[in-house]
Amino acid sequence: MYRVTIRFYEELNDFLPQQDRKRDIEVSFSGARSIKDFIESLGVPHVEVDLILVHGASVDFNYLVRDGDRISVYPVFELLPIGGITRLRPGPLRRTRFVLDVHLRKLARRLRLLGFDTDYGENRDDPELAEISARENRILLTRDRGLLKRKIVTRGLIIRNTDPEEQVIEVLQRLHLRDSIKPFTRCIACNGEIAAVDMGSETFTSLRDSIPPGVLAWCREYYVCTSCGKVYWKGRHYDRMCAMVEAFRKGETPPF
Ligand SMILES: [Zn+2]
Repeated sequence: MYRVTIRFYEELNDFLPQQDRKRDIEVSFSGARSIKDFIESLGVPHVEVDLILVHGASVDFNYLVRDGDRISVYPVFELLPIGGITRLRPGPLRRTRFVLDVHLRKLARRLRLLGFDTDYGENRDDPELAEISARENRILLTRDRGLLKRKIVTRGLIIRNTDPEEQVIEVLQRLHLRDSIKPFTRCIACNGEIAAVDMGSETFTSLRDSIPPGVLAWCREYYVCTSCGKVYWKGRHYDRMCAMVEAFRKGETPPF
């Protein structure tokens, strides 16, 4: 029989029943188990965990829980003063990249608008999403806890909000990404990178037919997706999109 005390910090508490939040929890169980399995048995996906301390010393996911252990569990991306502790992963990704679960289409479009590399496809199943996340080191965003329990997934976040605007704010806030916003640099349709196109260039000539004559009459500045060829210009919706970007920068819901 094992008897341990465990405490979860910050947003990891969202996974626990009300009575277990933000306090020491006493748990008894029989049979040896790894700390990864133990934590997941309490409802917290391992991908959300960045640091585990047992009696104040950091351990990895394979650590076998011992009778009398006192365990503290901290979330991914939580800003902690690092001193003599080892994190479970090699620090934040140099360049934040995402892959999104199928039900997060609106969030995907908004993250692309803000310039984040966001992989999204409508017909993917769970194994495929997990595989993309592992292979390309993309943070897997989903509302499905089960998906993040897959072993090959090491980077992921459960999205708590259901409203797409709130979801954007949640992602920016939890991953500290507000300063990394680069609006209008990615194609909202396909995630390709966007480049300015000179009106005198051959590229422009080849794209001309896809631009409405009413726009050609006044617009002198065009951009093209280097991947799917979609043409962008600062049309009627541009001001609205700028207002949306500014709201997200401030951590506010857009004003419409
Ligand atoms: Zn595109």
